[in-house]
Amino acid sequence: MNLQEFTQSKYNFEECMKCTVCTAYCPVLQVNPLYPGPKQAGPDGERLRLKDPFFFNYALKYCMNCKRCEVACPSGVKVADLIQAARIKHDHSKPKLRDRMLASTDTMGSLARPLAPVVNATIGLGVTKSLLDATLKIDKHRTFPKYSGRSFEGWLKRHAKAQAAFPEQVAYFHGCYVNYNYPQLGKDLVKVLNALGVGVQLLEKEKCCSIALITNGMSGKATKQATHNVGVLRKAIIDKGLKVLTTSSTCSLTLRDEYPGLLGIDNSDIRGAIQIAVRYIYEKLEGGAKLEFKPDYHKKIAYHVPCHMERLGWGVFSEKLLRSIPGVEFTLLDSNCCGIAGTYGFKKENYEASQKIGEPLFNQIREVNPDVVACDCETCKWQIEMSTGYKVMNPISILAEALA
Ligand code: SF4
Ligand code: SF4
Repeated sequence: MNLQEFTQSKYNFEECMKCTVCTAYCPVLQVNPLYPGPKQAGPDGERLRLKDPFFFNYALKYCMNCKRCEVACPSGVKVADLIQAARIKHDHSKPKLRDRMLASTDTMGSLARPLAPVVNATIGLGVTKSLLDATLKIDKHRTFPKYSGRSFEGWLKRHAKAQAAFPEQVAYFHGCYVNYNYPQLGKDLVKVLNALGVGVQLLEKEKCCSIALITNGMSGKATKQATHNVGVLRKAIIDKGLKVLTTSSTCSLTLRDEYPGLLGIDNSDIRGAIQIAVRYIYEKLEGGAKLEFKPDYHKKIAYHVPCHMERLGWGVFSEKLLRSIPGVEFTLLDSNCCGIAGTYGFKKENYEASQKIGEPLFNQIREVNPDVVACDCETCKWQIEMSTGYKVMNPISILAEALA
């Protein structure tokens, strides 16, 4: 198989019929004139790049990897994968210190955790934000997520014996956000699963899913971490026969699809056993399991489906679960990108575009005026909370809160 045939078989780019639907769906193209757009950066550009790498365009860095073009494409072209794979292959520029810091979530989390109160107070100061803006080009308007003084891993290890007593078991890929920033989401998942008679185990030693490394040009380190993760996932799934659940749509997409699609790591033997928790819970309830809810629970909830959740096709599970809680007044928000795309919106050069992209979503949230916005992605949460002032909760936390 020659290079052209290999690229075609992997990304399906010869199926592009030039309909330009993807260009209408690309949120970046609407706000950034420097970005060539999915059709030109993806299938059109790939034909040129295969002829001569000289045609690689550095403006491909403006792609947020939101995958909305792939959801929209009627021909099944893996447009976003083509663009990210081209960046991995052709962009050999050294990542900036800022990008390395933003992408090193495990390292930053481990360093910040023991000093969490000091770190949280410092990164919230105007003077710190101005300094980061001037030196590292992290936009000063951005609000950083707070660090937790205690890790989720430590908490679950202390409860391991109680968890092991449940008749059914799953493993949990908690991700960096739950471990270093918001252990409560992990605890909420444990509460809901325990109510269904399911105990939760840690993986042997997970590392960050690596999406931030991939999108910040560190595919070598990403491949090492991903290879490690596939090893520990195999131990849980194949050796122990467990399903592995996540609470983040982006971690789910990365573990299942970015590892083989962008890093060339074969995960076909375990991919099907990696699921977002809302899907697992929905299927349990469909199978006859029951959750008991508080009779007096009342909440007006607006659900934002994150772009990666749309790509996975799993937003329906969160929607159905939230609708099933008595006392919930539910609104499904229009399909819009929030604009942050992980570390993308933290960068000074992307901040303005990031906020413009999110504007239709922010406006709709203000119109609906919910008690809380529901969303399965931590970075969407940061963006929506910062930009609208509305509280954002993962559907799992809403389920846990509503439980009797
Ligand atoms: S939507 Fe698909 S088929 Fe249409 S131009 Fe984009 S990549 Fe090509
Ligand atoms: S992944 Fe998102 S930003 Fe990138 S081309 Fe596709 S729609 Fe545009």
